[in-house]
Amino acid sequence: MSVVSSVCCYCGTGCGVLIEAEAGKITGVRGDPAHPANRGKLCTKGATLHLSAAASGRALYPEMRTDKSLSRQRVGWDVALDHVAGQFSRVIREHGPDAVAFYISGQLTTEAYYVFNKLAKGLIGTNNVDTNSRLCMSSAVAGYKATLGADSPPGCYDDIDHAGTIFIAGSNTAYAHPILFRRIEAARKANPAMKLVVVDPRRTDTAAEADLHLAILPGTDVALFHAMLNVMLWEELIDREAIAAHTEGWEALRDLVRDYTPEKVAPICGVAAADIVQAARWFAAGPTLSLYCQGLNQSSCGVDKNAVLINLHLASGQIGKPGAAPLSLTGQPNAMGGREVGGLANLMSAHRDMNNPEHRAEVAQLWGVDAVPATPGKTALELFQALKTGEIKAVWIACTNPAQSLPDQNLVHQALQAAECVVLQEAFADTETAAYADVLLPAASWGEQDGTMTNSERCVSRVHAAVPPPGEARADWEIVCDFARRLMPGEGARLFPYTRAEAVFDEHRETTRGRDLDIAGLSYASLDSGPQQWPFPEGATTGKPRLYADGIYPTASGRARFHAAPYKPVAEPIDARFPLHLNTGRLRDQWHAMSRSGRVARLFAHADTPALAMNARDLELRRLKAGDLVRVKSRRGEVIVVAEASDSVRPGQCFLPMHWGARFMGGRGINALTLPVFDAVSKQPELKHAAVQVAKAVLPWRMVVLAVGDGAKLLDAVQPLLRACDYAAAGLAGREQDVLMLRLAHTQPLPESLLADLDAALGLVDPLTVMHYEDRPRGISKRVRVDGGKVTAARLTGETAAFDWLRDVIVEGVDAASLRAWMLAPVARPPAGGAGRGRIVCNCLNVAEPDILVAITAGADLATLQATLKCGTECGSCVPELKRLLAGNRAAA
Ligand code: SF4
Repeated sequence: MSVVSSVCCYCGTGCGVLIEAEAGKITGVRGDPAHPANRGKLCTKGATLHLSAAASGRALYPEMRTDKSLSRQRVGWDVALDHVAGQFSRVIREHGPDAVAFYISGQLTTEAYYVFNKLAKGLIGTNNVDTNSRLCMSSAVAGYKATLGADSPPGCYDDIDHAGTIFIAGSNTAYAHPILFRRIEAARKANPAMKLVVVDPRRTDTAAEADLHLAILPGTDVALFHAMLNVMLWEELIDREAIAAHTEGWEALRDLVRDYTPEKVAPICGVAAADIVQAARWFAAGPTLSLYCQGLNQSSCGVDKNAVLINLHLASGQIGKPGAAPLSLTGQPNAMGGREVGGLANLMSAHRDMNNPEHRAEVAQLWGVDAVPATPGKTALELFQALKTGEIKAVWIACTNPAQSLPDQNLVHQALQAAECVVLQEAFADTETAAYADVLLPAASWGEQDGTMTNSERCVSRVHAAVPPPGEARADWEIVCDFARRLMPGEGARLFPYTRAEAVFDEHRETTRGRDLDIAGLSYASLDSGPQQWPFPEGATTGKPRLYADGIYPTASGRARFHAAPYKPVAEPIDARFPLHLNTGRLRDQWHAMSRSGRVARLFAHADTPALAMNARDLELRRLKAGDLVRVKSRRGEVIVVAEASDSVRPGQCFLPMHWGARFMGGRGINALTLPVFDAVSKQPELKHAAVQVAKAVLPWRMVVLAVGDGAKLLDAVQPLLRACDYAAAGLAGREQDVLMLRLAHTQPLPESLLADLDAALGLVDPLTVMHYEDRPRGISKRVRVDGGKVTAARLTGETAAFDWLRDVIVEGVDAASLRAWMLAPVARPPAGGAGRGRIVCNCLNVAEPDILVAITAGADLATLQATLKCGTECGSCVPELKRLLAGNRAAA
């Protein structure tokens, strides 16, 4: 067995991992004890990475079609890349370089990012290269630049240990960055005086842990932060010396925030004035570390939200010292690396400014080209809008799934349909976007390619290949270079001579020399000894954990700039027709568009369907009850999901997880609802908020399906059913084997032929192994397959009460003999009286919620739960939820 070090490919925490491999296959993953981000710990997602690596559904060979009416056929790399080079070359010749575009990803290595950027801006001459990081952190980038002068997060994770107050705004850190939350829990345990303030419209597991939770109304963050500054002014909690010596623009901000008194702002934000005062006092007392994420970023005024939070740090002197910094959390593993190489439509290499002619000339000289284009390219949403109108004709998408993740999915699907040429460079062949690809280029994935990535705290880590890529898949950077050499044979070969990822890194390193992110002192060899934070100039022996300790900022004056922006409400206010605020966000065990996490059956155990969380009062108003199917409608589209009662949302608000797209549910997924409005500066869309209406979906025909097998293949097999039904939710269950779960509902029965095809696909036709029951007059049809004494598949149509316990029978591998008489019966409980295991709270040790509740009712506290059931003793991701269940029991008592 071999072991190599690398980095988790999910969130921006950037946890170090050790990948175990044997005979060319990844067999295990462990947290790397030597990595400073996680010190050996992993969350549920990171700890199951090896399972995602073993799953099927990979893109293994290049495929292409020459006509959109045809399906793609397998071809060799030469044929595929020559075809794409021909298509791009034709479009560029006929319509100019801005008629092609690249939409890439914060999951690419820095090396792949670098060559994509150089390909677009250096070789082709277009700035049309943008990335899914636009959906994630572009407001944070613009917020840093507007105030501190550069996109350089000033703090580090170790600040968690030094903080007196941790101020979390717009981030459910317990779910989205679990290992950082473990560090917060540990720091609070070590320092019980530390205050945790959480700003979030929802009472998330993060908020439930807070000393003070400010449950603001959606989008009112700017008003809140101004009111906090107002308190600091009145109570003389500001650092006048630091303001005078190191900032500019104070007077304008001071005059603006005079109007934002806590009393005036309290009703705007929907929180008590006294809580605003308390938050301001704790913030100013410090040292204060702010951690913030999509709640601030994914907003039509996301830059203002970021910048006015940074105002608080500058005004109260909470920056540049241990425990004091505004530290934005990146959603993706290498969003920071993309920013370093300038791999977005409005950025230039090494934090250079596209509007600055000298900076453009520097980049052109570094690359050895005459010039780089001056006009910013199309950002994510603009790019797809231009694809729809025909302004952009050919698009190359890499390592991302825009047909699930962008807002206003109807527009995105129309754009992909309208494109003359869609090239998809992907590790997985079955994403929503893959259906639109004219050319599919198989890419290496996690554990299969070399490179570097940079996490939220500017820490650069090496990623290593543990195994070769499967089939004919190739490293991302290699595919780009091969294409460049074919697109423009002479120039391409000159500009893209690399034969190793290290050569790309070395060139990128040179572009940073003398810049704020200078990494001239780093090399693959030095990074192989351990990750390092930038800046790390030549001759340095360590990186720099904290920036701006000297009060000098990378602006023209050397002073930080206060940002005086007034509060603006959400882009789409609620009204009589769309009366509910919809908030979207992350779940604990899924990640982004589920392209990878959706292959790991055990990651569905915590939440197996997309559910709309609603306050009990809103359910009652609409005569709904938990478990009902509801139609959620916005001005752009609709989805049908299950409603659940939740006291995590206030009346008038609801919440949907962001992860489910058309591969896992009916319709076009959650982003059919979200709106294509973005921040004027950062161009980041307001994915976090839309106005919606909710009403009961009356769908009398029901069907559920369970089947053991290869998860990805089973999901492929049921795609026609997802398209045929008004309501559909597909997912996986199981630990030792994958079990497909499919729930369907429709206005009328599906055609018999569709059911017959399904039965054939799932082996539900063999009379020797399949028990069946038909009651045609009542529309009931059931089939259960038993192999070797175990249930292996089931289809229940018309009456589905047994779904939950049959699923658990299959997942647990229960002997079917004693249950045979009950399998076709309309019973919600098996004869032994069990009601199924229920939702799994502790994914590592497979501990279910009902078992935890029984123990809590019997008097268990957290320590007892951990000692007896063992829940929360492995990765710790479920500890906040265990505490919530304990608190709920106390409140009910
Ligand atoms: Fe991966 Fe979890 Fe660490 Fe994020 S917190 S990098 S998902 S292990």
